[in-house]
Amino acid sequence: MQYEYTRKNYFKEADEAELKAIFDYAEGYKDFLFTSKTERGSCATAVKLCNERGYKPYMFGDSVKPGDKLYFVNRDKNIFIIRIGTNDIAEHGIKIMAAHVDSPRLDLKPNPLYEDAGLAFLKTHYYGGIKKYQWPTIPLALQGVVVLSGGKRVEVNVGDDEGDPIFYITDLLPHLSQEQNEQKLGKAIAGESLNAIVGSIADGGEEGEGIKSAVLRLLHDKYGMTEIDFQTSELCFVPAGRPRDVGFDRALISAYGHDDKVCAYPEMTALFEGDGKDTVMAIFADKEETGSQGVTGMQSRVIMDLIDSISRSLGADPILVRYKSKCISADVCAAYDPEYSSVYEKRNSSFISCGASVTKYHGARGKSSTNDASAEMVGYVRDALEENGVVYQTGELGKVDAGGGGTVAMFIANLGIDTLDMGVPVLSMHAPYEIISKADLYSMHRAMLAFVNKH
Ligand code: MN
Ligand code: MN
Repeated sequence: MQYEYTRKNYFKEADEAELKAIFDYAEGYKDFLFTSKTERGSCATAVKLCNERGYKPYMFGDSVKPGDKLYFVNRDKNIFIIRIGTNDIAEHGIKIMAAHVDSPRLDLKPNPLYEDAGLAFLKTHYYGGIKKYQWPTIPLALQGVVVLSGGKRVEVNVGDDEGDPIFYITDLLPHLSQEQNEQKLGKAIAGESLNAIVGSIADGGEEGEGIKSAVLRLLHDKYGMTEIDFQTSELCFVPAGRPRDVGFDRALISAYGHDDKVCAYPEMTALFEGDGKDTVMAIFADKEETGSQGVTGMQSRVIMDLIDSISRSLGADPILVRYKSKCISADVCAAYDPEYSSVYEKRNSSFISCGASVTKYHGARGKSSTNDASAEMVGYVRDALEENGVVYQTGELGKVDAGGGGTVAMFIANLGIDTLDMGVPVLSMHAPYEIISKADLYSMHRAMLAFVNKH
């Protein structure tokens, strides 16, 4: 009889075949992540993967039947992948998995372009929670869309291809940083100083004036846009480059945007691999990093409309379907960082490579603004994980009153759907390059599969 609970390290638990599976799975994720830096990129990549597997676009009012493989793309920034199961939806509900695919970044302002002292810049307004000092002096890519007059949409993606230029925010040289070094960390780099260099040759090749117009000419040549078209664009700077393995043993991955593509990818692969009995919905949500508001955020009515529409088509009462449904809010958690141990409570932290982490609640100031899952819901998921031998762990965000945070869980729970948070532990969360463990990534896939296949 095992009386004590001890957390396990998945790399230590795995046999040779499982170790191979862990490392193989990570390669598919790295490819997915490289083309999924923004919510639009994530949706486009997901659509491609769905199409390769015979999934079909769904529109409200379409009739559906058991066995259907569908996806609904909401304004190109939020996707619902849906597999209609053979089990009665009124009795079994829907297995929902909800991750988000927006990540902290630097959005362009509506009038971003200016020149000063021989350089042209694009001004930014940061999106989500960033530490501003982390963004100067790293290679940046520019991604997004420009809607031209008349509605034509042009895609922009510069900085990630070999041979592409990158963009760059400067920082002060240490020789002249005496005053800057005295500043508090949060004040040393101002939001208004996050302006990226995008050009430095003036029209006619002369130094001085005319660099802005030269940049505009290049933009017009390539995208057919003029300066006013910035006002009808969604462009952002994201860290350039591919995901990279970390460490001599290659056990970890450093990349931009693990939060929360590292949970979005496993929920999609689990849906693809599931047994097809229960109806399953994998959600890639937008706007989580700014509060889940808006038409593509998890507070939008779109999820309700989809459940209503699908339930009615199957002859089921959508109210009953919601009541019977269960949701994993699949979002990352903070991995215990021994370099910053003072903000963690070691007995209730998530540790790197110890598996996907079940988080009963997030929130702040005495569990405010959180979904606090019931013991019954946690027990349901625990049984699914244990029945399938999934190595997992449990944790809190950090010490009581050290800070706090949230996920989409409460918005789905508010619809009357039992919801539990679970996700991959991340080191340096929200930094331009975050770190996760390949073991935790694969654990998340196996956990989502166990949830989907529990009846
Ligand atoms: Mn997140
Ligand atoms: Mn986040």
